[in-house]
Amino acid sequence: MKYVYLFGNGVADGTAEMKNILGGKGANLAEMNLLGIPVPAGFTITTDVCTYYYDNNQVFPQTLEQEIINALKNTEQFMGSQFGNPKNPLLVSVRSGARQSMPGMMETVLNVGLTSKTIPGLIEKTGNARFVYDAYRRLIMMYADVVMEKATGAEPKDGQSIRSKLEKVIDRYKEEKHYTNDVDLSAEDWKFLSEKFQEEINERLGCAFPDDPMEQLWGGIKAVFQSWNGDRAISYRKIENIPDEWGTAVNVQAMVFGNMGDNSATGVAFTRNPATGENKFFGEWLVNAQGEDVVAGLRTPNPLNEDTKTEDTKNLPSLESSMPKIYTELTDIRKKLETHYADMQDIEFTIQEDKLWMLQTRVGKRNGSAAIKMAVEMENEGMIDKKTALMRVKPDQLDELLHPMLDHVAEENAVLLGRGLPAGPGGATGRIVFTADDAESWHNNGEKVILIREETSPEDVHGMHASQAILTARGGMTSHAALVARGWGKCCIVGCSDLNIDIEGETVEIGDHKLLKGDWVTMNGSRGNIYEGQLNLIPANPDTHPEYKTLMKWADEVRILKIRTNAESTKDALQAIKFGAEGIGLCRTEHMFFDESRILAIRKMIFSNNEKDRREAVMELLPFQKDDFKSILSAMEGRPVTIRLLDPPLHEFMTLTDEQQNDLANHLGVDKNTVKNRINSLHELNPMLGHRGCRLGIAYPEITEMQATAILEASAELTTNNANVFPEIMIPLVGSATEYIDQENIVRSVAKKIQAKYNIKLDYLVGTMIELPRACLTADEIARHAEFFSFGTNDLTQTTFGFSRDDIGSFLPDYLDRNILPEDPFQSLDINGVGKLVSLAVKLGRGINSNIKIGICGEHGGDPKSIFFCKKNGLDYVSCSPFRVPIARLAAAHAELQ
Ligand code: PEP
Ligand code: MG
Repeated sequence: MKYVYLFGNGVADGTAEMKNILGGKGANLAEMNLLGIPVPAGFTITTDVCTYYYDNNQVFPQTLEQEIINALKNTEQFMGSQFGNPKNPLLVSVRSGARQSMPGMMETVLNVGLTSKTIPGLIEKTGNARFVYDAYRRLIMMYADVVMEKATGAEPKDGQSIRSKLEKVIDRYKEEKHYTNDVDLSAEDWKFLSEKFQEEINERLGCAFPDDPMEQLWGGIKAVFQSWNGDRAISYRKIENIPDEWGTAVNVQAMVFGNMGDNSATGVAFTRNPATGENKFFGEWLVNAQGEDVVAGLRTPNPLNEDTKTEDTKNLPSLESSMPKIYTELTDIRKKLETHYADMQDIEFTIQEDKLWMLQTRVGKRNGSAAIKMAVEMENEGMIDKKTALMRVKPDQLDELLHPMLDHVAEENAVLLGRGLPAGPGGATGRIVFTADDAESWHNNGEKVILIREETSPEDVHGMHASQAILTARGGMTSHAALVARGWGKCCIVGCSDLNIDIEGETVEIGDHKLLKGDWVTMNGSRGNIYEGQLNLIPANPDTHPEYKTLMKWADEVRILKIRTNAESTKDALQAIKFGAEGIGLCRTEHMFFDESRILAIRKMIFSNNEKDRREAVMELLPFQKDDFKSILSAMEGRPVTIRLLDPPLHEFMTLTDEQQNDLANHLGVDKNTVKNRINSLHELNPMLGHRGCRLGIAYPEITEMQATAILEASAELTTNNANVFPEIMIPLVGSATEYIDQENIVRSVAKKIQAKYNIKLDYLVGTMIELPRACLTADEIARHAEFFSFGTNDLTQTTFGFSRDDIGSFLPDYLDRNILPEDPFQSLDINGVGKLVSLAVKLGRGINSNIKIGICGEHGGDPKSIFFCKKNGLDYVSCSPFRVPIARLAAAHAELQ
């Protein structure tokens, strides 16, 4: 088996297609070589080696060593220098590169090959001793941190790591010498510090920093493979659903230096703006710096060109004006890469003494709004077709467009605490915390939090994920916080230099204001503003995004699955129509009963112990219900509206405070004890499996009668007034055909009376929820009578697993942690179990009635993965909450295209 793939000087063993074994970085380095783009030579050690390493007690395959020696020879030839050669030494970088990019989650070692023997040669070659000793101390720091500490599994506490110890050595030295900046340090200073570092390492880690280039190289390679199973890589893989068995590749590549003087530089860029989607070359660069300086956010980077300067960056030098020839070369490469990959690229480059080198290209992460704009514009430019454009936007990315923004008025009157760079758009409000762990645990306790950090590092991802928004004191638009937040579409502000964080005291000063942990702040991530307190957020309005409209139009052209919404208020129904809903898939009527004016009537009904009283009480509700249905049916303008008959256990209406019990007793003219006794008699040990669903209508037929009357009279009156209506009456929690028939008979006889009374023929359906395993198993019997099925996958999941949907929170985290369940089955349909019952019910139902209308109205109706399943199983529609309607529309189009 071949374990090592070469690239350099316009040739390469691999191609962009080989991401699975070369990782994204390695595959693209190969491809850039083949495109004739200048890339420092090197080689990629495949992901197979990573898998082998972990399968074989962390031992490498036998043939690897020789392959690496050969590959190194090739690299030496291409670069005209030799690894370990005292006169003309080659230095290399050792970097990770998984199939899917995992920014900053794994380790890197740079400047490998600098030793006491090669240092003089490099000084002679470059004539720049300061540069060489600076490179040497960077190597020692990185190597000690990554290879000698992290790779051994050591987990020192905050401030105790070897890296922070070495940083302290520098700080102390600078203080002694009264230096303020790193640039003040001379060659002698760095040389002295390199020696100090080695002493510190010997003392702290009990072993010496290796002075042999091959030992350094192997140490680096091993540490990178080891970092695949580091804590932060594992937690990132969990969040992003990246399989553990993929493994990482390792790229060993000749070093080029952006810190060799004022004709050297380094930068990162995007071929289009990743925050807005605009077709403008966008990036950041620093003169006389190494790549890590840009990404780490320790120096404020400069804008790439004049066109993308902002109020904050207008006085900084752009690469375009500082190095015009190189900028032109870079724009040619931008064009070449974007045309070749037909997608926005995220690139890294280094300029070493006026020569441009490309270090990386990959598909750039972008937020939802930018993804849509780019996809539609690239289709318009003829770069991609409609299908590709649709597939470029993940359904969940639309969520960002649907995210709240800060209320303008509230914002104008708010106290501005400070400003930073607008790295992630949208508004967010939350209580401030200063550590990722606090963010996670507060979030788990139901708090909305905003994580404030000096700068974030990959160790913080779990807390960043749990936060509403992220705020950092340092860093630019391509800093870690900005990249990660953008990938998730989270509100984020970086580089807020007004922040003065006291981690230990758990306080922060922003300008003149001092805030404590737990204080509320609000952020406008689109403007970079931070405000005091909890401000009002207003829902997003995607209609103002022209490319969104185009994309959704394309999605609607492609999809076959219909999208409905779950709504019980006219306001929600109208919002859902705006989002493109084609009907209501679930109107839960019980929500209409909780209004003050109605709840007494329903309590009276529950109280009645004879049919006459009960009927009287129930009929008090009729005018209210009729008005509700009239309003919602007319708002839906003839679109189908599935109205479910009363479903919850009655005791849900009877949780009363002492005062309410008194009121009820007075109202009914009974004493309080009678009320108490009745409440006690309603108590059920297992209400979810108790007197609820169609069991209510069976015990108290007048409830079904009243609701059917309300629905059908509302329909009749609207029809008489020339409005279009299409009600679908749905019977809940049916487990057998006989239950269904009992309830259907009531509805049909009401319909008969109403049609006679109004002298019209009503267009309506009667059908059932399928939300019990027995309903699935006997779906053929039910389908002989029902005109539609709607899968209530919330209850179906509950009853199939036997997991209480209200109590799963107590054990789900353990199930997820230990991989007993891959995900929350109440969020994404359990295809292997619950899904099998759904498939069976569809098959049985359609076997009897090929035209039976089938949909889903459980929460899964808004989950893209579950939507694919619904499409595959021939459902006619999915129904979800109004804000998920656009997501469902796009997911339904994806389901058609895949
Ligand atoms: C269901 O059970 O999936 C459903 C939609 O009904 P509810 O959530 O109201 O029980
Ligand atoms: Mg249900």
